[in-house]
Amino acid sequence: MVRFRGHHLICLHFFKGEGYNREFVENLLRALKDAERTGVEVVDGADDVCATCPHNSSGVCAYSSTADAEIRELDKLALNLLSISPGSKVSWSEIRAKIPEIMDVWRQKACTTCDWRNVCHAERSNHRVGSSKHNSKASNNPRDY
Ligand code: SF4
Repeated sequence: MVRFRGHHLICLHFFKGEGYNREFVENLLRALKDAERTGVEVVDGADDVCATCPHNSSGVCAYSSTADAEIRELDKLALNLLSISPGSKVSWSEIRAKIPEIMDVWRQKACTTCDWRNVCHAERSNHRVGSSKHNSKASNNPRDY
């Protein structure tokens, strides 16, 4: 069972194969396969995606000086919107089914200030729940997921 933090439960539905480096992308692809296959354990803080992130500093998000606090707020918002708590075990399809109903609020409160909004903008506008849009293009492009 793969471990995902709050905002990853939403953002990873829009993953298109881009990431900080190849190791990060390959790990993320594995995590998404595991999520589909074995389900997800919701965690508080660094998760299986953060595990290979170059910005993970001993469990603290060091993407910027304020990132860890901001990311934890995003995690809380995501968990509130999805009505789920750390420690819960859920199927990835169950999470996916909730995405359409929470996206208006998520766009307003999270996407508008996200550094990576251009990466998944097209994906968001074309998003169809139930379709798998994840591709396997590993990239060295230092952009997020
Ligand atoms: S940028 Fe921060 S929250 Fe995102 S994967 Fe890296 S450590 Fe985790």
